[in-house]
Amino acid sequence: MSDLKELLSRALAAEGALIEPIEPDGLEIMAPPHVQKALALPEWSRVGFGSELPDQAVRVSFESEWAERLEGLLGERGRLAHFLLQERPYPAPRQEFEKSAQRGFVLQNATFRLGPVEEATARYLLLAFRITAASDEKREDLVYLCINESNGAIANALAGPLLLHLRAQDHLERARLNNAAQADGWSAQQIFTRSAGLLIPEIRFQLSPFLAGMERRMARDLERLHAYHSELRKEAAARRDERGRKGEIDETRKVDQMRLEAIEREYHTKVADLRRKYAMSVEVRFLQALRADMPVRRAAVTVLRRKGSRQTHLDWNPIARRFDLFPCEGCWTSPRVYCVCDDKLHLVCPSCFCACPYCGKESCRACHPAKCGKCAHSWGAPE
Ligand SMILES: [Zn+2]
Ligand SMILES: [Zn+2]
Ligand SMILES: [Zn+2]
Repeated sequence: MSDLKELLSRALAAEGALIEPIEPDGLEIMAPPHVQKALALPEWSRVGFGSELPDQAVRVSFESEWAERLEGLLGERGRLAHFLLQERPYPAPRQEFEKSAQRGFVLQNATFRLGPVEEATARYLLLAFRITAASDEKREDLVYLCINESNGAIANALAGPLLLHLRAQDHLERARLNNAAQADGWSAQQIFTRSAGLLIPEIRFQLSPFLAGMERRMARDLERLHAYHSELRKEAAARRDERGRKGEIDETRKVDQMRLEAIEREYHTKVADLRRKYAMSVEVRFLQALRADMPVRRAAVTVLRRKGSRQTHLDWNPIARRFDLFPCEGCWTSPRVYCVCDDKLHLVCPSCFCACPYCGKESCRACHPAKCGKCAHSWGAPE
């Protein structure tokens, strides 16, 4: 059964509608009044999902307004699910664990000490967002973030397996787990703050082909505009010089000069129009969250920088078969190499720890997000 057909069948059944499967690939529906209103259906109707429709059926697809209608019917329900993955973790031997840690957790200016490797339960939060990017064209996409709530590390590779698991589970069991205790999860505020940071590099990455296409179109338009106005400018200048050679009166030459200036002004206005046309806005909407508890291999880790130390832990996930790695605490990207700051032992990427262009001293962008901690030079406005 297609995702949409299953979703609609479940939602209709839960709302008290009578449904009967019909061929080919459709449903016959008797809907109570509130369902009729939310889904814009009469009391008796037929819907179809495949390329061939049953007799008298209307087509239902995600691209049509059905996604919004279903969202209206479900309201706030179905925003959060919670389940427990009980599979035993693939027991990464200590040596393998250490080797992967040395490879995956590289510190440029600090060292770390690993504690014993043990089995633990990590809590993962998978968040789904709909992004709508609009410039001269519009594009809609889904973005997933997967966060290990027990140490704040990123586990985006788990998004696919978690969604598959969710689909495969019996939905009654899931309904029961929906109400499971959520005592040690992050607060809504924590989730909001962290995902706001993490979404920016993720959206940039996901939109990069769209952005590149837009930049190509904009460069082509700018080039055309430049060529056209250069031609106009050349002609006007030639005319002015010609009149100069013929010794025509100042008044006429002044008119030519004004014409040249008008061409220049028009060019700049058109460039500004193009920049407005291609400016991109991105709207992000939270859709759903999934919490999953699952066994992992865990080792405490002590990060050592000069006289300071910071405690956290590394989780090795048996499904992704890798470590959940910490994002840079300055720009929220996933660095290959980390730098550790002196004051708070933040884990940041090398660009978030690089020397200030003004005073030349290293300054942590997580400690000082707006300006240099040493000379107060603003990062946003290089001088
Ligand atoms: Zn960074
Ligand atoms: Zn500085
Ligand atoms: Zn710092």
